Amino acid sequence: MALRNILTEEDPALYKISRPVTKFDQRLHTLLDDMAETLRASNGVGLAAPQVGVLRRAVLVVETNVPEGEEEILLELINPEIISAEGEQCGSEGCLSVPEQFGLVRRPEKVTVRAQDRNGNWFERVGEGLTARCFCHEIDHLDGILFTSLAERMLTEEEIQSGEF
Ligand code: ZN
Repeated sequence: MALRNILTEEDPALYKISRPVTKFDQRLHTLLDDMAETLRASNGVGLAAPQVGVLRRAVLVVETNVPEGEEEILLELINPEIISAEGEQCGSEGCLSVPEQFGLVRRPEKVTVRAQDRNGNWFERVGEGLTARCFCHEIDHLDGILFTSLAERMLTEEEIQSGEF
């Protein structure tokens, strides 16, 4: 496994539409393993392949809604699609490609995603709260959308420091 470089917002690759994954081979597995290591090293909750310069529809999302004492689950979502969404939440959102900036973004409270695993098997997964936000945010990356373009407003330095906004 190897750490990959995370592109930042000035990189044009982050604004492109990623292509579907068609080969579920060793190359994909290496990409996913490298992304997992990169995500862990940066303490993020999600990472999309285009953020490491690979314009393919693959994302990682950390499922943080787990029973107390259990480990968080790292979800691999290949060719993910949101098939249903309900409710609404508006809260602070950030991105490893937009370091140290946060904005208020409105997202559904609960989403169901359909995706393939690293071997090409389809599955569905429901995410709530932060996980729903993360599903939306990472899938947006596959369509070249950064949260900064969706934010109702960006938070000020003082708001980020105090946690009050
Ligand atoms: Zn992001």
